[in-house]
Amino acid sequence: MADSRNTANNLDAFWMPFTANRQFKQDPRLLVSAKGMYYTSSDGRKVLDGTAGLWCVNAGHARPKIVEAVANQIGELDYAPAFQMGHPKVFELASRLTAMMPSPLDHVFFTNSGSESVETALKIALAYQRVKGNGAKTRLIGRERGYHGVNFGGISVGGIVTNRKMFGTLLGGVDHIRHTHDLARNAFSRGVPEYGAEFADELERVILLHDASTVAAVIIEPVAGSTGVLIPPKGYLQRIREICDKYDVLLIFDEVITGFGRLGTPFAVDYFGVMPDLVVTAKGISNGVVPMGAVFAQKKIYDAFMTGPEHLIEFFHGYTYSGHPLACAAALATLDTYAEEGLLTKGAMDGDEPGDGKGLGTYWQTALHSLRGMPHVIDIRNIGLVGAIELEPIPGQPTKRAFTAFLKAYEKGVLIRTTGDIIALSPPLIVEKEHIDEIVATLAMILKDLA
Ligand code: PMP
Repeated sequence: MADSRNTANNLDAFWMPFTANRQFKQDPRLLVSAKGMYYTSSDGRKVLDGTAGLWCVNAGHARPKIVEAVANQIGELDYAPAFQMGHPKVFELASRLTAMMPSPLDHVFFTNSGSESVETALKIALAYQRVKGNGAKTRLIGRERGYHGVNFGGISVGGIVTNRKMFGTLLGGVDHIRHTHDLARNAFSRGVPEYGAEFADELERVILLHDASTVAAVIIEPVAGSTGVLIPPKGYLQRIREICDKYDVLLIFDEVITGFGRLGTPFAVDYFGVMPDLVVTAKGISNGVVPMGAVFAQKKIYDAFMTGPEHLIEFFHGYTYSGHPLACAAALATLDTYAEEGLLTKGAMDGDEPGDGKGLGTYWQTALHSLRGMPHVIDIRNIGLVGAIELEPIPGQPTKRAFTAFLKAYEKGVLIRTTGDIIALSPPLIVEKEHIDEIVATLAMILKDLA
């Protein structure tokens, strides 16, 4: 029998995630190395990283301290069983992380990705209600335009139709409230938009529709990232918290993007001053170097499991690679780097004195908003060191205009990200003014000529 195994050394075998494979393979974009703010492409060009990889390389690429920590860790302890065993770095990391979070978010459960962190948080929420004797509280509420990863829980509570429609009926007992994007009232807002706190009231309506006795938790991205940097209106998250308190519903913040300095504060929890019950993180926790995620839980949640009926294993959940030694080494060195270089507040606005150099948030805001008035630009929004430029869609060809901008920017040496007709920007937090100028000048050039 002839051997039919595919031995072709080409681009065909790899089924690429969230990628138009056929289009990509005709015109591939390959990155072969990275340092600081720049990638190098396979054709030898420097490409400015305007997106921190996929919102994860917050300390920039190939930082010596992180590289060294991971290299040393491989030689010392490559792996330790995650269940009924431990290793020193995973406890050290948990302590360091919980010290960064406001109390009572005092405990942390490790995963390997944002998607796994979401599933973990949803399962903690459901199990917590049961442990507390509220076993009928099983419903989960998400939002339209929410992105919570790609696993079944995450796409069920998520609100992106393309990610949901191919996969059947998904989790039962899930409902959604609307997103807060409101161009009619809030276009070209700088920072937090003014209008729309009342969108939170829909949560109360949905809870009452199902009866609060059936609702376990609501999950929200404080700033929705993947669907185009949707910043919550003033007072909205506070109102969500009040409604959750009123009906004894857990509030989960998905901080996979907003965590670790993206908003100019360590977490969105700090930025908005709203205390959720669970916080989902990943990405920036280990600078994208080794996959890792973490779910923060309030003390009352952890304690409920510790005093519950089960005594051999308190929570039937975990991953082979939870708290992997390499990920812990990468994360510890990442946290050191953030602290030493003040990166978690790099995106803060200038202080009371304009230009006091406290953060780059004001410079970033002014630079992005300088693109107002360029052809097709219908909104610009920013918070911390994240921003978005929304373009008017070409009728009948949604996404085309922004994707063309992405290809042109890459040609000109700047990596941006697009979702629908929105250009999203989130540079590594080591960004300096000249990089911001380069990103904005390149975008100006492209927008001018965009069909
Ligand atoms: N939640 C949010 C808010 C995200 O932005 C992402 C990834 N972009 C995820 C979850 C999923 O993370 P991962 O791709 O690491 O599974």
